[in-house]
Amino acid sequence: MTDFTMQKDADGVAVIIWDVPGKSMNVLSLEGAGELDTLIDDALADEAVKGIVITSGKKDFAAGMDLNVIAGMKQGGAQAVFDGIMSLHHVLRKIERAGMDPKTQKGGKPIAAALPGTALGIGLELPLATHRIFAADNPKAKIGLPEIMVGIFPGGGGTIRLSRKLGAMAAAPFLLEGKLSDPKKAKAAGLIDEVVADPVSAAREWVLNATDADLIKPWDQKGYKMPGGEPYHPHGFITFVGASAMVNGKTMGVYPAAKALLSAVYEGAQVSFDTALKIEARWFTNVLMNPSSSAMIRSLFINKEALEKGANRPEAPDQSVRKVGILGAGMMGAGIAYVSAMAGIEVVLIDARQEAADKGKSHSEGLLDKAISRKKATEDKKAEVLGRINATTDYAALEGCDLIVEAVFEDPQVKAEVTKKAEAVIGQDAIFATNTSTLPISDLARASARPDRFIGIHFFSPVDKMNLVEIIKGRETGPRAVAKALDFVRQIRKTPIVVNDARFFYANRCIIPYINEGIRMVAEGVNPVLVENAAKLMGMPLGPLQLVDETSIDLGVKIAKATRAAMGDAYPDGAVDEVLFWMADQGRLGRKANAGFYAYGDDGKRQGLWEGLAARYPQVDDQPDLTTVQHRLMFAQTLEAVRAFEDGVLEDIREGDVGAILGWGFAPWTGGPFGWLDMLGAARAVEICDRLSAEHGDRFVAPQMLRDMADSGQGFYARYGAGKKAA
Ligand code: NAD
Repeated sequence: MTDFTMQKDADGVAVIIWDVPGKSMNVLSLEGAGELDTLIDDALADEAVKGIVITSGKKDFAAGMDLNVIAGMKQGGAQAVFDGIMSLHHVLRKIERAGMDPKTQKGGKPIAAALPGTALGIGLELPLATHRIFAADNPKAKIGLPEIMVGIFPGGGGTIRLSRKLGAMAAAPFLLEGKLSDPKKAKAAGLIDEVVADPVSAAREWVLNATDADLIKPWDQKGYKMPGGEPYHPHGFITFVGASAMVNGKTMGVYPAAKALLSAVYEGAQVSFDTALKIEARWFTNVLMNPSSSAMIRSLFINKEALEKGANRPEAPDQSVRKVGILGAGMMGAGIAYVSAMAGIEVVLIDARQEAADKGKSHSEGLLDKAISRKKATEDKKAEVLGRINATTDYAALEGCDLIVEAVFEDPQVKAEVTKKAEAVIGQDAIFATNTSTLPISDLARASARPDRFIGIHFFSPVDKMNLVEIIKGRETGPRAVAKALDFVRQIRKTPIVVNDARFFYANRCIIPYINEGIRMVAEGVNPVLVENAAKLMGMPLGPLQLVDETSIDLGVKIAKATRAAMGDAYPDGAVDEVLFWMADQGRLGRKANAGFYAYGDDGKRQGLWEGLAARYPQVDDQPDLTTVQHRLMFAQTLEAVRAFEDGVLEDIREGDVGAILGWGFAPWTGGPFGWLDMLGAARAVEICDRLSAEHGDRFVAPQMLRDMADSGQGFYARYGAGKKAA
């Protein structure tokens, strides 16, 4: 099986076609790179070949390096990673120098890249090594270097080439933020050279007419200066100092890849191009050997994709949804209607009043209008999507629905009533799902005449942005309902986790202790600024106090009251409620009230932490150290995840990790709570738990499972890796 083939034509153009067998998208493996190397050698040595065009046999160019290969490269150790990367540099540099005489820089063969569609990662780094890049005028194509999103950085020369081509400042959004562009924007930014109707024929013509001078990259010319200034140029100095501050500000120093990337650019800018590539390879090796990059690749790429492809789907024929009925057109129902209609599913959106149903539909209209104003959708698309949503009060319209998603008020009686009404209309095979966030699925299923076809499909708000969907099996939920829910989630292009029915399911179960621990510290007199910053310095996107402001303090009060009622004397969070209820009494309900733990300006902008907090909860003189605060915040969430696994609510730690990052932003650099425990080591984690529980209470007592792991010296992924269940 070959990934690259070559056709030479009578005009003297060798066209190298990248077409990985059995895959819809090209990805580069080390074997593939070897094949490309051989073809380039052949074409450069063949006197009949005047120029070379590299293109793809698929509709896109390439999605990048095969991340499974990257994860595997680590096994050989740092030297093997470095050698692998250097061999890739060697191939790309050979393309760039194209057989020219090193002294006179003459006699090389022009090499152009012709991109029919998307070109990501190494799929752009390879073209960047050629002499000219032609892309098809395909607005759906995405061009860029997204490596930073999975905890690595462009290590195939992309970091060095792009920073030398555009300058450090202009390259920053593409390198440090993984910004992707369509071909026209990529051309305007200088990532590629031409946008044309037929890139292969344009590239072919170009290679036949290119001159020696067209082949010499700026950095291979005498007197080359980096655009925007090198590090010791006054402008460059400002750029690099600013970039360093920005990266540390944004990443709080917890993402090794961003720092390493910056170091590669900075150090690389001061030496020759070939030395710079070596520096890039060293930093890349450094990042790849850091446990954070493997944890991120594992959760954000490999396992996320495995879950999306149905790793935990029971055997059942295709359950794709054709017509979905959504009960309740409020915030959640309206969002679910939008994502369903966008996925091509016919939607019946029901509310008690026609105005409410219409308002729910207008949510889609608003989102589509916004997309049109950003040129991400057209009027035709809007009409098509809205045409799929039937907003009505008439339950008879549910006829023919193969899935119902209920999103009415969080009230068991209201939910029972609509369940019965819908079930009276829908067919026997249809599946009924509830979007409840707090009510047990098995209890709600009592209203159903067919509990085996009753399930929880829990979305997060805002539905169009949040990619996690939690699927909850009730006591009697059958496998076909699970398959249906998973197929639906795949259709709407989100990431599913499947959990069992228990209070707050998985995500909310873990996030509530995080928020509560933050509030508890405020009650103890810990400086709230310390609480918030400690969380951010661990890589949490929001501190616990900001998070509760966003989700609203009255919701917190409601949940606390319900939990207290259910748990009675065993309820452990009285100290938290004291703060929460007092805040609610003050009318400080969070962002929506423009007043919460934070103060907000009249424009709704968050200012600083509210000063009134200190008057009610005076700060103690003896403040805890940063690490203790961080441990309290992180272990509050992490131990809950372990307990969820121990209890069998979570059946697969992969879901626990992916769900934590996508559901509530659990420090992504860790790869999730189980990934983090593996980095710490179970023995060290138990030690921390022992100290925290002695000083702060039983909620930090190490779960037995964690103690067992510590005793056996095993890690979670070593023991429970590919979907293995807890014993
Ligand atoms: P919402 O109050 O915005 O919407 C509920 C809608 O249901 C309203 O439009 C209401 O008119 C309608 N409704 C009430 N009774 C009805 C009936 N008998 N027939 C038809 N329609 C009826 O609430 P929401 O925030 O969209 O929450 C809905 C559900 O989703 C709740 O179960 C909630 O727990 C859950 N949920 C909410 C969130 C969130 O962040 N808000 C997140 C996940 C899940």
